[in-house]
Amino acid sequence: MPNYLQDTVALNNGVKMPWLGLGVYLAKEGDEVERAVQAAIRHGYRSIDTAAAYRNEEGVGRAVAQALKDNGLSREDVFITTKVWNADQGYESTLAAFEESLSRLNMDYVDLYLIHWPVKGKYKDTWRALEKIYREGKARAIGVSNFQIHHLEDLLQNSEVVPAVNQVELHPELTQKELLQYCNDKEIRLEAWSPLGQGNLLNHEVLKGIADKHGKSAAQVILRWDLQNGVITIPKSVHEERIVQNGNVFDFELDAEDMRTIDNLNRNRRFGSDPDNFNF
Ligand code: NDP
Repeated sequence: MPNYLQDTVALNNGVKMPWLGLGVYLAKEGDEVERAVQAAIRHGYRSIDTAAAYRNEEGVGRAVAQALKDNGLSREDVFITTKVWNADQGYESTLAAFEESLSRLNMDYVDLYLIHWPVKGKYKDTWRALEKIYREGKARAIGVSNFQIHHLEDLLQNSEVVPAVNQVELHPELTQKELLQYCNDKEIRLEAWSPLGQGNLLNHEVLKGIADKHGKSAAQVILRWDLQNGVITIPKSVHEERIVQNGNVFDFELDAEDMRTIDNLNRNRRFGSDPDNFNF
């Protein structure tokens, strides 16, 4: 049976990234994150999204190594994302933070390295560090997270590499249509964090209605909506049955009316912080 979780999208530098991956924010270092990552890879996931700030890079690294062994895979078969934390931004400090992430992950490269948040006055220097890391081949692609259009405009003015990805909060109550259009125009791939609204959208009546129609769950409907919008998505769960469920979204299609109905749920509602007004 084909493994659709291996379906990839080509980023702007040709590197292929799986459309759907496992997020591990709030997955506890140790057993919890290791079990989640191992279950995900066993069930066909090939992409894991972590960050220095999640304090679980060591567990992710151990679990990936074990899963590769158990499933007869090699390092090239998986796509690992991590991110530089705000306190480490700046040129030299980012270079050092990156080496620390690599060492915690016990890897000699990552597939995608992101600036976690657009820290004012620092993100351009941070980006120069990411460009160096990219040129040295230690990250196969580099990108940003939580960047609004004005942050991207500012960054693009004097950077050499166009970010491959912008990872932002995106779900049916925060559809990010303008940012999606902008990123598509610049060949920056949008990636959805908190795609399930941190679990808060799963009892939404409209989503449940569409889910019933397709014999799927509300979570699956949202993730399918991401994919049909051309948005990479990284739902988080530490429960094996949910990890399986979330990956099982390649065997049905939302019709144009479903897509419109979900688009219309937008309320510009954030469950996370506002990239123009955060204090961490
Ligand atoms: P999600 O929208 O992915 O929701 C996760 C929550 O939903 C968890 O409580 C999980 O519970 C629950 N859940 C998952 N699947 C199901 C299901 N099928 N049925 C019922 N409940 C379910 O939230 P996140 O905030 O974790 O976002 C996903 C990922 O995005 C993060 O893990 C992280 O990798 C990334 N992220 C990036 C940010 C950034 O600034 N760049 C910020 C926030 C997130 P349980 O685990 O108990 O199963």
